[in-house]
Amino acid sequence: MGRYPRSLPSVLLESGNFDGLNGYKRRRRGVIATHSVRLMANLLSPEQRSRLMALIKCRDTGPELRLRRALWATGLRYRLRPKLPGKPDLAFLRAKVAVFVDGCFWHGCPLHGHQPKSNSGYWAPKLARTQERDRVANAALEEMGWFPLRVWEHETNAGLAACVARIVEAVCQRMKR
Ligand SMILES: [Zn+2]
Repeated sequence: MGRYPRSLPSVLLESGNFDGLNGYKRRRRGVIATHSVRLMANLLSPEQRSRLMALIKCRDTGPELRLRRALWATGLRYRLRPKLPGKPDLAFLRAKVAVFVDGCFWHGCPLHGHQPKSNSGYWAPKLARTQERDRVANAALEEMGWFPLRVWEHETNAGLAACVARIVEAVCQRMKR
């Protein structure tokens, strides 16, 4: 809890145009829900916004943790945050499979990614850069003989078992090479 700025919830609650309570509940569980982040980001000053984004980027996210726990349960072992292009969340070193858990908003998921209408001059280039970085990282990994495997944040909910199956299958396939 201590890692989050205490002033945020009141900033949000006073604004009156967001799903504050749900966002707050999730935040208390250690997860800042993406859509709440998006809504709150437009209410903050540039300085508050960049501090918030740094916080979001540097800590374990709910979706990533869910996936990690499920993968760990399979018995396969992975390296966390390997030093590889695009900073994958985890990697299977021998199989050379790099796994990314991509946030639906930031990385432009076809189901949930959309451009915010307010402040679009700020968001549009930022989102485009993130997605371009993903493409560059994938290409760099492939160049190095790695297999980049990306799962969407939303797939780590109901689709978690399918995600794990996809990853296990990729790892097994590549171990056979
Ligand atoms: Zn999604």
